[in-house]
Amino acid sequence: MAQIIDGKLIAANFREEIAIEVAKIKKEHEITPTLAVILVGCDPASEVYVSNKEKTAHSVGMNSIQFKFSAETTQKELIAKIDELNNDPKIHGILVQLPLPSHINSKAVIHNISPLKDVDGFTIENVGKLSIGDIKDDENSYGAIVPCTPLACLHLIKNAVENSSVFQRNIGLTGLKALVIGASNIVGRPLARLLMLEGCTVTIANRSTRNLSAETLQADIIIVATGVVNLLKKEMVKKGAIIIDVGINRVKINHLESKIVGDVDFDQVKKVASAITPVPGGVGPMTIAYLLQNTIKCCLRIIKNNQ
Ligand code: NAD
Repeated sequence: MAQIIDGKLIAANFREEIAIEVAKIKKEHEITPTLAVILVGCDPASEVYVSNKEKTAHSVGMNSIQFKFSAETTQKELIAKIDELNNDPKIHGILVQLPLPSHINSKAVIHNISPLKDVDGFTIENVGKLSIGDIKDDENSYGAIVPCTPLACLHLIKNAVENSSVFQRNIGLTGLKALVIGASNIVGRPLARLLMLEGCTVTIANRSTRNLSAETLQADIIIVATGVVNLLKKEMVKKGAIIIDVGINRVKINHLESKIVGDVDFDQVKKVASAITPVPGGVGPMTIAYLLQNTIKCCLRIIKNNQ
């Protein structure tokens, strides 16, 4: 039976480290790392995500300021707000909660965020750096700010390998076969880049993949990020594989109630995997922790640039 990867606990430990970093920044620089979150319209799921991010930021001593706009807001107004936040020295990170209403071009909005405050790692500069493997700072330039969910997945994979009796812990992820199912710019593609940098042999599957089972059965690590309930089933998984479930799907239990499930048939797959993340309580809490970590990273860069 698989080890259940406790994302809530791992995230709680990680947040303790973040809180120490925040306290140090406050003490040494008299600055509170501050995240600006832009929310447009009143999509209930987005409102829940934004309020969770805000609560978690406050719990580690950071500031999180919400800027709410009506669904009728124009792209021009939104970009004007981003310009203002880019130039505000008290703001260290900017996040635009997606999806935006259909009359707004998300790409145009995101690309107006300063790469220095791009806590989601979605701007061309950060995406480009990650795609060439430039993720570390050196004396001449900063490495990419990497998107939060891929960082969360990588953290949980490393944790699973460290605690594994199946894989050799001393070589990390080097040489392992990783399959990323889902090729979005938010999760699949940046995660595949990170896994390549760890020395994995990486395959990316998408909805056009012809024989998904042929791919899954070869993989030591499978990350599923599709939004398709029960896409990964027990008979598709090699014994001892590590399974990371990114999916968030609301399914009805009866007329009145619903629950959140991932993309993996959890109860069956856990019988063959060596480690597996639950949904909820797996990737989600770690994603928020990395949002805070990225905000600190941006804050420290801004402090350094001003010295
Ligand atoms: P997306 O819709 O942008 O991309 C989905 C990807 O899955 C596409 O590449 C598509 O080709 C692929 N896909 C769809 N059906 C498939 C199939 N049958 N076989 C193989 N590939 C298939 O989605 P996204 O934004 O990457 O999000 C994916 C899921 O992850 C969603 O459920 C989303 O809610 C969730 N998510 C969770 C977190 C978190 O923090 N836990 C963060 C981001 C997204």
